[in-house]
Amino acid sequence: MNSQETIVVLGAGESGVGAAILAKSKGFNVFVSDKGQITSNYIKILNEYEIPFEEGKHSEERIIEATEVIKSPGIPDTAPLIKKLNSLNIPVISEIEFAGRYSDAKMICITGSNGKTTTTLLIYHMLKKAGINVGLAGNVGHSLARQVAENNYSHYVVELSSFQLDGMQQFKADIAILMNITPDHLDRYDYKMENYIDSKFRIIQNQTENDAFIFCQDDEIITKELKQISIQVQKHPFSIYECLPKGASLRDEDLIIKNENINLNMKQKDLSLKGKHNIYNSMAAGIAGSILGIRNDVIRESLSDFEGVEHRLEKLVNVRGVDFINDSKATNINSTWYALESMNDKTVWIVGGVDKGNDYSELMDLVKEKVKAIVCLGLDNSKIHAAFDGVINSIVDAESMPDAVKKAFELADEEATVLLSPACASFDLFKSYEDRGNQFKDEVRKL
Ligand code: ADP
Repeated sequence: MNSQETIVVLGAGESGVGAAILAKSKGFNVFVSDKGQITSNYIKILNEYEIPFEEGKHSEERIIEATEVIKSPGIPDTAPLIKKLNSLNIPVISEIEFAGRYSDAKMICITGSNGKTTTTLLIYHMLKKAGINVGLAGNVGHSLARQVAENNYSHYVVELSSFQLDGMQQFKADIAILMNITPDHLDRYDYKMENYIDSKFRIIQNQTENDAFIFCQDDEIITKELKQISIQVQKHPFSIYECLPKGASLRDEDLIIKNENINLNMKQKDLSLKGKHNIYNSMAAGIAGSILGIRNDVIRESLSDFEGVEHRLEKLVNVRGVDFINDSKATNINSTWYALESMNDKTVWIVGGVDKGNDYSELMDLVKEKVKAIVCLGLDNSKIHAAFDGVINSIVDAESMPDAVKKAFELADEEATVLLSPACASFDLFKSYEDRGNQFKDEVRKL
């Protein structure tokens, strides 16, 4: 590298700051620019590493001096500054792409519309248990760039959103996992599903015949796309409905994982994570472990003692016969579908928030079967009423989390379950899905 080369990093969140630290450690001149306010913890880190930065603006004249620009995933390609950089032929890459250049570690990368974090943490748990020197990166934990700058792991388990995949050029996953594809974030993809699908499939770009691709065979969008493209990679499908010669399937009460190295059986009831969606997550993790040569007993143990992830079908206390479940991370219809699917038929469902173009008819059968009352928790609940008024007898509105928990508890009979699974983003009434889930837990504790 020429010592005069300058890397400009746009956006000073976890991925931007990580990229800046890595670039600095590799001897580049680095400048970080964030149009908004940078949080105090990141300012502290930038100062510690003596990395110059600006906030509240993008100084174009300084940014176009860059040899290369690293863009945070939150900034769309259509932003005027990015268009300008493109017109000047200044390369714009992602933090993951940059990090990949400086690491020889094995990359186990997970994407999908739902289940990414759960599967990522499950695989991380398994690799740790197997004694592998593994780091966690991407959307959970530290950014990959920061991990690569500060650590020397032999393996990384990396959660990748579609926005992170968009900036991938040379980066290669040794093991790529695609959980599922359902409509999400379409505003960033010109409202075209095919663009979103292409983005998710970038997880396998650059893979060769020695690499592995783990994917859900039951997902029609994935299998349709696979028929249309030609790939060399080793395929490892998983399915709940088909018995597969290779990959993971169910037989009677057992989960089975098969490939050249392994023939593993375990009882479905021994999986620590419950619900159909978690069978998929466990299958994907089990296949990844088997490809890495982890022993059967370690895979089995990991899948049966993993404690789950906060705000994802998180079981809370039972209050006078009523169970409470926090699924605040369910921000789209598909994840709520799986939550409802795993409920009993006395569910009081807290739903609502910022609608992402939801089609509630997809939940209609499950709601009829499982839900006895609905508490709407959003600034605008009209779509929920339009969908379920007349279908469910008790539908009430709540204006805050304390109000929602109080009303849900009043509507719950003994042996009922109160489920917070909003199917919506949280920003109308809460700071984030974590804030929404934490407020829910606080209110339940007060009952
Ligand atoms: P992501 O990181 O992709 O958002 P999470 O693991 O955080 O996924 O889970 C998000 C939501 O989706 C939670 O409500 C969770 O219960 C649900 N979920 C988890 N795994 C799956 C899956 N495989 N398919 C559908 N929904 C899932």
